[in-house]
Amino acid sequence: MSCLFCRIVSGEIPAKKVYEDDDVVAFDDINPQAPMHVLVVPKRHVATLNDLGADHDPLVGSMVRRAAAIAAARGYDGRGYRTVFNCNADAGQTVFHIHLHVLGGRALAWPPG
Ligand code: AMP
Ligand code: ZN
Repeated sequence: MSCLFCRIVSGEIPAKKVYEDDDVVAFDDINPQAPMHVLVVPKRHVATLNDLGADHDPLVGSMVRRAAAIAAARGYDGRGYRTVFNCNADAGQTVFHIHLHVLGGRALAWPPG
């Protein structure tokens, strides 16, 4: 198994997990870009957003709702936070197992770089 996030899901590589259920795991990004920088990752391997089908809709919904719950649990629901899926080269995707970035705790610039 060569996928980094599959290895984190299986526990082969350690990560600071902040949430886990049957379908998703969330852990702190190793190179945080904000005071909160969590990655919400499906346990099932999907390489990019381009590989999603209708059968993934419940899973993606769970990821987005989990991101909101994590942000709210840290008190960032009112002041705000950002969620990001990067897809392929122009967006800077480096890990080819989809993941939802959840960033908060500082004012985030827009448009992104
Ligand atoms: P992306 O550029 O959207 O593919 O994001 C990949 C993210 O994974 C980056 O923010 C990295 O800092 C993060 N990352 C890479 N390796 C690890 C790791 N071992 N544990 C936690 N986060 C990681
Ligand atoms: Zn994977």
